[in-house]
Amino acid sequence: MGATRDTLILVTATVSDTQKPAQAGFCVSGITDFADGISAIDTHHIRPALDASYLLIRNGRAAFVDTGTALAVPHLLAALDQKKLSAEAVDWIFLTHIHLDHAGGAGALLKHLPNARVLVHPKGAPHLVDPTKLIQATIGVYGADFFAATYGEILPIPADRLQVSEDGVPLLWVDRTYQCLHTPGHALHHYVLWDPLARAVFAGDNFGVSYRQLDVSGRAFVMPATTPSHFDPSEMHRSIDRIAALQPAAVYLTHYGQVTEIERLAQDLHRGVDAYVAIADRHPAGFDRTVRMCAELFEWLSGELDAHGDQSDVKTRHEVLDLDIDLNVQGLISWATRTGTTKLSGT
Ligand SMILES: [Zn+2]
Repeated sequence: MGATRDTLILVTATVSDTQKPAQAGFCVSGITDFADGISAIDTHHIRPALDASYLLIRNGRAAFVDTGTALAVPHLLAALDQKKLSAEAVDWIFLTHIHLDHAGGAGALLKHLPNARVLVHPKGAPHLVDPTKLIQATIGVYGADFFAATYGEILPIPADRLQVSEDGVPLLWVDRTYQCLHTPGHALHHYVLWDPLARAVFAGDNFGVSYRQLDVSGRAFVMPATTPSHFDPSEMHRSIDRIAALQPAAVYLTHYGQVTEIERLAQDLHRGVDAYVAIADRHPAGFDRTVRMCAELFEWLSGELDAHGDQSDVKTRHEVLDLDIDLNVQGLISWATRTGTTKLSGT
């Protein structure tokens, strides 16, 4: 039986074993359980509660949505153990997109899962079979030292264990029909996984980034993820609208966890995309462009956090936001360079 919209919202997270939540729906590490057999697994990428994989369980069968990096594999296998599921019970690894903080562990994980297949956007499939370019591109964004310390060994995925997603085509798994919806904007190789019965969307990075430590009275703060190198503001606006039009009860973000109040967050994301692009417009060139854009984006986000009611100090905000600010500015510059314009091409 699937949860209704109301039950999904009302079931606050239960936290496995001895892990104690800092607040409802949030745990610093480990596994956070939601309704409908959905659990968030902290992949422990960079810092706690930054990067999630989701474990879906239906009638004793299992699927992962995104995997984190190759270093996350022990955490994912431990989560199966904790749920008393064998590796043979896993049917799918759904990869919302192939950025390596979400897909980097798929090849290594697959070696442990004899029955699993990987579902990936057709534009992403070749780069999982041969991840050379993907690794090079990631090193280009993060640097070689950071990559070596935080991503682990990226293993290729055999082509015969890959299946490509088809936009909107029903996908039956166990007792439930899912849909992959192709949603560019954050990346060309991005889909979101839609569970109509649970009214749940697994959004990857296409419904923004929302860290639980910025929640105020249970209300989420969300910001767009304009990471290099395929950010496209018009497509991102369309994808946000496509997700919101489903009227989901909850959206599950890889960064990080479950968010509700989807209509409000969609409006916040639209405003954020426009604000990010306006910042790029104001800094079209110059040797210190990146520094200026990062400073302005921090100021804009700080103003939004003030309006949200967040009372954290400047140092804390930098700790939470600076990684995203750096990536988002890189993505804005990449987009402006690629398109030869910093003008928003319409919403
Ligand atoms: Zn991404």
